[in-house]
Amino acid sequence: MTASLIAGARRDYDNGAGIASYLTDLDGLHRLIRERRDAGYERKERLNEFLILGHFWADTCGNFGATTIGYRYSEPIAWMPDALPRVVESERLLSLLPRLTITSTFRPPPPTSTNLCSECGRGWTIANCHDNEVRFGRNDERIFRHKRCAQLHEERESLRELQEIASNAGLDRAVLIPIPGEYDRTGHRTWALLCTPWGDVKIGWRKRVINIDWTDMVERAGAGLEYEDRARVRSVFDGNELFKDDQTTKDATHVHAWGNAKAVEYLRAIYAAAREHGR
Ligand SMILES: [Zn+2]
Repeated sequence: MTASLIAGARRDYDNGAGIASYLTDLDGLHRLIRERRDAGYERKERLNEFLILGHFWADTCGNFGATTIGYRYSEPIAWMPDALPRVVESERLLSLLPRLTITSTFRPPPPTSTNLCSECGRGWTIANCHDNEVRFGRNDERIFRHKRCAQLHEERESLRELQEIASNAGLDRAVLIPIPGEYDRTGHRTWALLCTPWGDVKIGWRKRVINIDWTDMVERAGAGLEYEDRARVRSVFDGNELFKDDQTTKDATHVHAWGNAKAVEYLRAIYAAAREHGR
């Protein structure tokens, strides 16, 4: 009888002590993930549910996911993963602490012992393998990064993209200053101020559009002017006029650009108005 058949007979992958015996290193964790998947998906065994290492969730069907633990309607409890035993039957935990909410997402499995972070070049161990974000590359390959590394990568890409938009719009001398994104459902994407002698333009991604806001330029251009001159300056910069042919969200000092090329076009128009009428 082979070792895997013996393990299968004892169903080590489906009881607390058995599961703990896999958790010596990342390879063991991945063996556990494979064996539970085979049991659930191929042999149609109904499995027990476990919280593993405080960060992972193994369900009744052989799925394996990431988990966060919190009280209902509140933030995850940061100390909980370290305080829990390495293997917990989720039903037992919930019977002890019924107000606990365990939220799980079935993402790709954690990195293996051969994966390296594409940002910092370091790998993972079983102790920190929950600290990962995965993206799929062009050939569907998995690209892993630590969470902080993923954030840095995202922010660098975002700033690089905004710099490129600015340069293509003729604002290559504008000083680009990163600011926190003002649309948080996209994740960490950083926004930026494009600082010019005529004022700052705030630019950054919302979900599918690039938000462009030139309020600062208009205020500078109108500063100290009497009412009529100020109204004239405002009309020169008015987004409703500048972009009247485009069906997009716009007002006097801001516009949504559908894609990089549109953002370049709008920035050019705003910058032209600033150079002609700005101060
Ligand atoms: Zn990293």
